[in-house]
Amino acid sequence: MQYESQEESQKQGIASPQSTPAAGPALSKPPSTRLPAWAGGPVLQRKEDDQINAVAHAPAPAVTPAVAGTPQPMTRVQFDAAMKTRYRVAAIKTGSFQDQAFGEMKQTDWNAWSPGTSSMVYNWIIDAFANFEKAFGGMPPVKEVVFFDVRYQRDDQGKPVKDTSTGASYGVGQLTIYRAVQQGNQMFDVQSALKTPTSEQAVTRNITHELGHGIAETALNQRTDQPPGADPDLFKDYRRAVGWTDDGKLYDIQEQAVQNALKTHTSPPAEFQITPKNATTTPWKERPLTSYMATNPSEDFAEAVMAYVNEPQSLKVQSPARYQFIHQRKARWLASGQPKMNIWERAARGSPRTLQPSRKPTIWDRVLEAQ
Ligand SMILES: [Zn+2]
Repeated sequence: MQYESQEESQKQGIASPQSTPAAGPALSKPPSTRLPAWAGGPVLQRKEDDQINAVAHAPAPAVTPAVAGTPQPMTRVQFDAAMKTRYRVAAIKTGSFQDQAFGEMKQTDWNAWSPGTSSMVYNWIIDAFANFEKAFGGMPPVKEVVFFDVRYQRDDQGKPVKDTSTGASYGVGQLTIYRAVQQGNQMFDVQSALKTPTSEQAVTRNITHELGHGIAETALNQRTDQPPGADPDLFKDYRRAVGWTDDGKLYDIQEQAVQNALKTHTSPPAEFQITPKNATTTPWKERPLTSYMATNPSEDFAEAVMAYVNEPQSLKVQSPARYQFIHQRKARWLASGQPKMNIWERAARGSPRTLQPSRKPTIWDRVLEAQ
């Protein structure tokens, strides 16, 4: 029962964003007292505006010099240690040809890739995890991180072709990171200017986007009893909240005619339909931050989560329905049952839950296994 009462108190805490109008996600929580000392976790300081700055992240061994402002690239050894100790990722590996091969892929055309023995990309991935955890109070159960040069997909004939535009992907607890992780889509800022991300922004955005898919996977697949953490109606409600129709088209949800049509399951006026092509060229009232956000509900949600973590003020201003949905609903996801404690803090104290082998593993199982 303690979980329920804690969850209620957090719900009440975040259900009144009006009381802190400038607050981004992290401001609804007390300062970072929730990080266990043993984790040596990053201390994030939330600024007044929409920036989440990892002021001093030193996830495992100290990798940031005492002199502020010029973080040194993490080594792969440090990265692996941080992912394993802080985020309980079981395996971090540079993928092999055998790991990726399917169909007629030829080893002579194939290259391995990782950020190297030392790279800022490692710092930025850790930043993405830390910022995500800060915004949501927990993490989807990432079990494995694998680096590949490029994603391969099947063409119409089923043959493997390179997809050089994908920076990362997520599925069943595996986070796959490609060389293209350092490139990202243009995104509206809070002033409605389309900005191309820096390498650092691209990495943190790509990784938090994938963790957004992780939220969805966790919420949809893990129907647990208590504490809650499952949200099987996530997409049904998200589609309605942000303007997706039953037949998979997106409309400007801030238009009354669209809201009425969604309620009655009729077709909204065509003039309010948003597509990847017109998403960023038309001044919609509920404006997708990226054209990719208008692809489908799943990518919409992952992009919205990404923006909620990294650019909450931009999301709040451009896409208020999306911001409100995530802000008011996030207590149901991931670590929602233990809002007062970081999940690792809870693990250190011992969880009262017992494993139930008949159901799918949840983040709780991971925590318990880690003890
Ligand atoms: Zn995606």
